[in-house]
Amino acid sequence: MLNILIIGNGQCGNRILDSINRHALGRGKNCGKLARFYSTQRFKSHVETLALNTAINDLKEMKFTKAKDRIHIEHLHGVGANRNIGKQVFEAKKEIIMRQIEERGNFDLAFVITSASGGTGSSFTPLLVKEMKNRYNYPVYCLVVLPFREEGTLYLQNTAFSIQEIRQSGADGIILADNQYLKNIGGSIQEAYDGINDMIAERILFLLDALDSEMMMVTDLGDFQTVMSGGAGLATMGFFRADKEIPIKTAIQNSLSPLGLLFSTNVYEEASRAMIVIKGDRKYLSIDDISTEIEKLSGAVGHVFKGIIVRSGEYPQVLSVLTLESARELENLYSVAVQAINQEKAKKQRVEQGDELDKTFSQIEGLDPEY
Ligand code: GDP
Repeated sequence: MLNILIIGNGQCGNRILDSINRHALGRGKNCGKLARFYSTQRFKSHVETLALNTAINDLKEMKFTKAKDRIHIEHLHGVGANRNIGKQVFEAKKEIIMRQIEERGNFDLAFVITSASGGTGSSFTPLLVKEMKNRYNYPVYCLVVLPFREEGTLYLQNTAFSIQEIRQSGADGIILADNQYLKNIGGSIQEAYDGINDMIAERILFLLDALDSEMMMVTDLGDFQTVMSGGAGLATMGFFRADKEIPIKTAIQNSLSPLGLLFSTNVYEEASRAMIVIKGDRKYLSIDDISTEIEKLSGAVGHVFKGIIVRSGEYPQVLSVLTLESARELENLYSVAVQAINQEKAKKQRVEQGDELDKTFSQIEGLDPEY
């Protein structure tokens, strides 16, 4: 049995954590089969969840995460997307935060979930991971959500710096999920968020199941660690759930296709190592077909671990975890972020030089109001 800690930082991290807890309790769309994570034999892991936020309203919004697991780190009404303030708050409250982790015992692995672009999560995460890696021996993986590109210059610059800092924090790997890439889910912004959060929750729960299940063909924590240590420290996940009988080859391909992935990448070009876990009734799982499809992938990317979990009566589901050697989409994001940083800098200089508004105010210098 694995002991697993999942931390959600900031609003986005809190909401994804809440979605994980909802699915784990069997209340999500398609959750009937996942069912009661904490209690059934199927999910052997012992999972502790922890939500951290400076904004109390974000914590209050959570519906499926126990009150004792929602920790308010007091600082006015949040940090207002300012990562410098976020870092100061973390340093000031570090021991309170670390005590929360300490009290939850020892773990085999931890996930820290955050957006890259906001204030609290993006500034807490690198410092928190660094602290965890200094104090504990278990691997810490971050799941980082990238912003919609039109959300503005501050979010873009936060993204560029926070990802770099998370990489330098000692994190054992960063799994990317991209709002921009996933936004075609459609509906209102809230519906899109909910849809994206569900996608992430579903993948994380499948992964935990895969790491802690008795399998016909095994993938374990060691395999996951090997996959995550490949490539450039960045990864993403894919998933496909069949709702009718389909060839297992197609199910595997779908999990690696744009429809299944959380981040835009051509896995055959950019992936470095992979883990593919297949779950379903034995009658759908032709070992020959699975092997042929996996060999195609390993021919392109290098090593691929495969796991098979037999679940009678279930249509096939496939999870893929892929570390990336290169990430063109991230390069594009950094180019836009550099423009954003320069734009902010130029704006600040103009204000400091006081060009426009000073001229405006100077017009009344030496004058008094006349009544
Ligand atoms: P923080 O609370 O200061 O850490 O800031 P947020 O977590 O709100 O960060 C803002 C970023 O998170 C923006 O890019 C939002 O698009 C994104 N975001 C906020 N809430 C959600 C959510 O529920 N789901 C997803 N996928 N993204 C979110």
